[in-house]
Amino acid sequence: MSVIDLRSDTVTQPCAGMLDAMAKAATGDDVYGEDPTVNHLEAELAQRLGFAAALFVPTGTMSNLLGLMAHCERGDEYIVGQQAHTYKYEGGGAAVLGSIQPQPLEVQADGSLDLAHVAAAIKPDDFHFARTRLLALENTMQGKVLPLEYLARARSFTREHGLQQHLDGARLYNAAVKLGVDAREITRYFDSVSVCLSKGLGAPVGSVLCGSAELIGKARRLRKMVGGGMRQAGILAAAGLYALDNNVARLADDHANAQLLAEGLRGAGFEVEPVQTNMVYVQMGDQAEAIKAFAAERGIKLSAAARLRMVTHMDVSRAQIEQVVATFVDFSRK
Ligand SMILES: *Cc1c(COP(=O)(O)O)cnc(C)c1O
Repeated sequence: MSVIDLRSDTVTQPCAGMLDAMAKAATGDDVYGEDPTVNHLEAELAQRLGFAAALFVPTGTMSNLLGLMAHCERGDEYIVGQQAHTYKYEGGGAAVLGSIQPQPLEVQADGSLDLAHVAAAIKPDDFHFARTRLLALENTMQGKVLPLEYLARARSFTREHGLQQHLDGARLYNAAVKLGVDAREITRYFDSVSVCLSKGLGAPVGSVLCGSAELIGKARRLRKMVGGGMRQAGILAAAGLYALDNNVARLADDHANAQLLAEGLRGAGFEVEPVQTNMVYVQMGDQAEAIKAFAAERGIKLSAAARLRMVTHMDVSRAQIEQVVATFVDFSRK
């Protein structure tokens, strides 16, 4: 029985074409700057997203950390969503390793931060306070796409207040595909962007931080410091290049599958939040453990949560989504 894993879009296996590209990758020592495939990936993504430079790193957590630390000095502050990855899901790295104070704010229903609340959180220049340096946004945010009009407003706002603006774009391409725009239409509003290759794009490892040459120069030093300098990393960068060339447009299939799943579950009487990209949130209440166990017996891997997140990706087919819906229907009749 083939397993259907809906816990995350990080669970994909590299396909034959990707493995072939990895096997054929030209490599060198990237700490010496001599891995041609890493250099190619960095130049390619910087160019595609409209930045002067980029840096390949093992994880999105490291990419965000280096971005925050390159923007902020010890005793500086970044404003960030209470539910954002860069605040809640990175082990407190910015504070622990960067001595950067987070100022979390509640995220609005559409995934954005209310700019009036951000304005109120900016600290005056006074020695009592940390220095507010940066606004960090996330797109997609729990599967929600930030409106371009909001990004434009946030950009003017941060310019006006002398703040830098960082995007945790782990799923930047899901947002771009959903909006039907070039990813640059999103990244043009930011001073730095972190993109994951290991989520919906299907690479086994890797994220890229994009920014100015100066920012990426700082980030490169910091990467070495936190132990992220890799050697013949071209094998991994080749997977990223393959993903960028082959797996972007197909994210639309994951979005369609997420819609299909949401509609099926609604039809079975479940309470499902509106779906925009590849994430489906269902209210399971006290049935979280029960549905997880019920699904596991039928070859479906779910997380256990009262607000259950299911994520579609390239290793889940439309037919398998129908199977998942049928399983929920059986569960509801049990
Ligand atoms: C996955 C993810 C990251 C980084 O993840 P790693 O597992 O460290 O690669 C950052 N931000 C968001 C929104 C994510 O979903």
